[in-house]
Formats: sequence, structure tokens, C-alpha cells
Amino acid sequence: MGLEVHAELSTKSKIFCGCANYFGGGPNTCVCPVCSGMPGVLPKLNKSAVEYAVRAGLALNCRIAKNFKFDRKNYFYPDLPKAYQISQLYAPVCTNGYIEIKTGKKINIREIHMEEDAGKLTHDSMRNITRMDFNRCGAPLIEIVSRPDFRNGGEVIDYLERLREILLYLNICDCKMHEGSLRVDVNLSVRRTGEEKMGVRTETKNLNSFRAIERAVKYETSRQIEILEDGGRVVQETRRWDDDKGASYAMRSKENAQDYRYFPEPDLPPVNIGDKWLEDIKKSIPESASLKRERYIRDFNISEYEAKILTGDKKIAGLFERISARSGEPLETAHLIIGEIMRLINAPGIEDLSLDERKLADLIKLVLSGKINRTAYKEAVEAVVTDDAEPDEYIARNGLLMMSDNNIIIDAVNIVLAENAGAAAKYRKGKDKAFGFLMGQVMKKLNGAGNPDIIKKALEDALTGG
Ligand code: ZN
Ligand code: MN
Repeated sequence: MGLEVHAELSTKSKIFCGCANYFGGGPNTCVCPVCSGMPGVLPKLNKSAVEYAVRAGLALNCRIAKNFKFDRKNYFYPDLPKAYQISQLYAPVCTNGYIEIKTGKKINIREIHMEEDAGKLTHDSMRNITRMDFNRCGAPLIEIVSRPDFRNGGEVIDYLERLREILLYLNICDCKMHEGSLRVDVNLSVRRTGEEKMGVRTETKNLNSFRAIERAVKYETSRQIEILEDGGRVVQETRRWDDDKGASYAMRSKENAQDYRYFPEPDLPPVNIGDKWLEDIKKSIPESASLKRERYIRDFNISEYEAKILTGDKKIAGLFERISARSGEPLETAHLIIGEIMRLINAPGIEDLSLDERKLADLIKLVLSGKINRTAYKEAVEAVVTDDAEPDEYIARNGLLMMSDNNIIIDAVNIVLAENAGAAAKYRKGKDKAFGFLMGQVMKKLNGAGNPDIIKKALEDALTGG
């Protein structure tokens, strides 16, 4: 298998005109003569789109072309008003990269080329009409073309997960498959064991989720094997996946490059990426998820499992780094985020979560310096997250400041032992479980704010007559 991945770049404007580039606008509200293909208009290349494409190339270990050019790919389809797509065939912007997947295997990337997107057709079968929305015409895309290095569906998913993470961290694509900003086509062929030449391939399109990709790979593999085992021949074609039916059907016979009569785009000059520009783009690349993971494990003593959770989402990683910097306590911050914060984020009713990082950092300092105990800490964290409470004020109001006064604690211990003579006797007879119960009772007397170490000591002393 080999993959072609189209990623829509999240630049502010389109690739060859100044129209806004965003998903979800009213139909045909972001359209101008250039992107709707009026005769005589001229394209003008968006500098940011080039920078985004180069960022992707650098992160995917590609060679970046010093000079690259655009070509015209000619075809007619109702979603393409110009009847050609400006793309790259002869001199793409990036070549020869790779992604290393979980198993350590390198999946080679043949090239990344830049191109413009087509519009969107909506078929209304009730009224037997098709609506055309040209907002997406001219949206900037990169197409990431791999070599046929995949041998099973698991490798495909690993690669896509890595790619998705990289694009998200680079801030160049929102990778929403259901909105079409990340689109995957799978080229698949089978061959008999021992055979070296690859078989005839098909291309499966319209895969809207990782799950659909996995299913389509399985389906197409068995379909081709069945054809060959029955003595038939696989036909080179493009197939469309129907996720509801769990099957694909032939869409059109597969075109070759010559069918499109590509030729150099006459309206755009070749682009030269000088050393200075390339250096600047390199500097603009944020730290990748995998480098972050390595750094967290190495510098902060955070486990691999925790580092994975913290970097699973760029926003969580940012939150972690900012609270760590404020509190000076990365490990405690990691535990706070993975424990309480993640739990609260997932709680129903909390959707638009804007956390006050200063307040959370304050709470970390309070618990680590022994001013509040763990129970009070959890309670206060929740109050900050859900009600935006002010830590000092909340702790004072609820009497959560850790009680470390020996005399008050000893008094509480004595009252509890008097009230629970039975449990005390059990403990003295060797029932250790009774100790936990008595601890709990003392803590209750102190409104949950007692210093557990001091209570434990006082209780032990009282029980052993010390
Ligand atoms: Zn436009
Ligand atoms: Mn393409």
C-alpha cells in the first residue's frame, strides 16, 4: 500500500487569491474572479502557504527544493470552474522524506506538493439537484505522497497518527477528517508470496475516519485476493468507499498523469527559496510532540505513559508547560493535569474550559509546602476549575488550611478514642484495620484539614500509651 494524503493548510487566505480560507461559511461567500476561474484573471501565490508546506517538509525529513514550479492539471468536473487545477508535477516543493512509525520502520515519502482545492458539491436526491459551493476552490493543500511501503492496515494507521500529530503541532492543518481537512486515499495491490513485482493497484477514496480506512484496507485486500484466486485480473481503477455498507464500488478507471495533459503553469513564475528564507522557516517550527516527550521524561522525571498523555494534545502540553513554569514543579503539575484536570475536563457541563494557570500553580505550591493536605488540594482545584475560585480565599473560607497544631490534634485524638473505645480495643488486640477508621474519625473532627502525619503520630502515641 501507498498513501496519498491531502492536508488543507490553515492559512488565513486562499493559495492564489485574497479570499478568506475557512470552513463553514455560507455557500459561495468567499469567492472572487480568481478562485472561480473567470477568464483573464491571474493567480498570485500566498507566501504563508509556501511556508506551511516547507514546515511540513522539514518536519517530515524531506529535501526542500531551492526552486520549485507549478503545473496545470487539466480535467473537467463541476466542482472545478477553471477546468484545471494548479498543482505540481515536475518540480514539487519537497521530496524524499520519511516518517518513522512505532515499530521503528521508516515509511518513505516520495514528495509533498502544493496545489489548490476544488469546490464542494452537495447532491440533493429529494429534489434531484446538485448544489455547488465554490468556497473551497483555491483553498491551499499539500499532498503528501508516500512510497508503497505499507504491508498492513496497522502500519497505515500508525503512520497517519504520527502524521496527524506532526501537522497539528506544526499549526498548519486542523486535521479534521469529517470536515475534509485531512483526506486519505489508499493505493493497494496484492502479490503472491515470493513475487517481486507489485500487482495491479486500485485507489480507494472517500475515507472519512481512521476506522473507515482500516475497514477499507481489509475489504480491498480480500477483494483482490479473491479475484486472483478465482483466476481473474484486478483492474486499475478508483473506488469509492461506502462506510454504511462496509464496501467500495468502482468510480472510474484510474487515470495516468498523461490523461491530464499536465503542462507548466504559465501564469506563475518559479519560486526560489533562498537560504535566509529557509532559515527563517526553520526557526518558526515549534517543538514536536516526540521531542517534547523525550524532554519531559529526561528533564522532569515524568514516566513515558504520562508524557504520552501530556503531549496527546498540543493544548494540554502548553497548559502543562505554563503551569510547570509558574509553579516550578513539573512532576506535581503533570500529576495534577493527568489526574484532577483531565477528570474535570471530561465532566459533563464543563465544555469551554479556560483555566487560570496562576491559581493552579498557587495550589501546587500550597500543597507541596504543607499548607493544605491532599484532600483540601483536590477540593480547591475543583473549585478553581469549575467556579474560578481564588485559592487563598477559598481555603480560608472553608477552613482548609492544614491543622498542624499539636495540642488541638491531641485533643481531637482523645475525644475520638473516648467515643470509639471499641475500635481502640480492636486495634490494641492487633486489628490494624481499626487504625484507618480512627484516623478518619480524627480527620473528620478537624474538618478534613488536619495534618495526616501529625494525626498518625498522635494517634499511635495515644493507642500505645506513649
Ligand atoms: Zn478568491
Ligand atoms: Mn491532489
